Amino acid sequence: MTTVPSIKLSSGYTMPVVGFGIWKVPRENTADAVYNAIKLGYRHIDGAYDYCNSAEAGEGVRRAIKDGLVKREDLFITSKLWNNYHRREHALAMAKSEVAEWGLEYLDLYLIHFPISLQYIPPSEIKWPCFWTDPERTKRTPLDPVPIAETWAALESLARTSENPTGIFKSIGVANFHTQLLYDMLGYAKIRPAVLQVEHHPYLTQKHLIDMAQENGITVTAYSSFGPQSYLEMGSGRAAAATSLFENPVIKAISKKHGRTPAQVLLRWATQRNIIVIPKSNSSERLAQNLESTSFDLTEEEITKISGLDIGLRLNDQADLSPPIRIHTV
Ligand code: NAD
Repeated sequence: MTTVPSIKLSSGYTMPVVGFGIWKVPRENTADAVYNAIKLGYRHIDGAYDYCNSAEAGEGVRRAIKDGLVKREDLFITSKLWNNYHRREHALAMAKSEVAEWGLEYLDLYLIHFPISLQYIPPSEIKWPCFWTDPERTKRTPLDPVPIAETWAALESLARTSENPTGIFKSIGVANFHTQLLYDMLGYAKIRPAVLQVEHHPYLTQKHLIDMAQENGITVTAYSSFGPQSYLEMGSGRAAAATSLFENPVIKAISKKHGRTPAQVLLRWATQRNIIVIPKSNSSERLAQNLESTSFDLTEEEITKISGLDIGLRLNDQADLSPPIRIHTV
């Protein structure tokens, strides 16, 4: 079975460099998908409240533990706090109910999903895919003026530390933050974010953000490592207009040279620079291929060449949806 290396986080815990991302894994398949991923050798699962499949993912995890495939302590499980729950009391309640959804005693990592606080919607009324909109789906989402500092303090109170050994999150972190917000956080955080999860692929390298995070001891996780691929099914015009990274001549030439697939080259380009990857696939053959992506090395020259493909193509952009989602403050 493939063994994947891990990175030590600032919290002291370790995180496997390849995980299985479960955004858009259909709810009805999620338990089996997670179980089978663990059977293949995955030890890291990336979920979120927003993906609407935490209970099913937890079912897969618990079945794998029960069948003796793995022990809980060998797994690294991430989830995320959604935008409508940034107020202290909502963040605390949602964090606890997310751990209960997974049916586990703790999660390894809990991230603030976006640095955007939207008006509270009771969980019973929130329905995918209207997460970014109000319940009437008017595409006008009211902002709730909650500073990140309030949300972060709520998560800090749940983190597992020497003062709080029963904390429900071994590590806490953020997603979709930029440098300015990270610098601001570092000014007040009692616990530094262990992880920053952002969009990262050769068409959007975000070099300065990644350098800044890594220089400050924040481990970076890349999402959407395959660039446009994931956004084609979302109807993104930007994704449709771009050349697939799998068809990009630079990626194809390097993959041919190494006898690896373009997907493996894209993942190795990240992990070789200490960036964690969480590719999603519904096929076990591709899951296996992605997991095996750390078993070869690119040259420095190849890494530089791939980084040179940057065109600032941001795909996970709510303003790029049709119609665009706007948040209003008045
Ligand atoms: P991805 O880059 O992992 O791409 C997924 C697509 O690539 C799917 O169409 C899949 O079929 C295809 N694919 C997977 N492996 C392949 C292979 N070996 N060869 C060819 N095609 C392959 O996209 P993603 O799902 O956007 O990102 C991965 C994970 O990142 C998500 O599942 C989620 O967990 C996380 N994520 C987080 C955020 C955030 O805001 N924090 C946003 C997007 C994604």
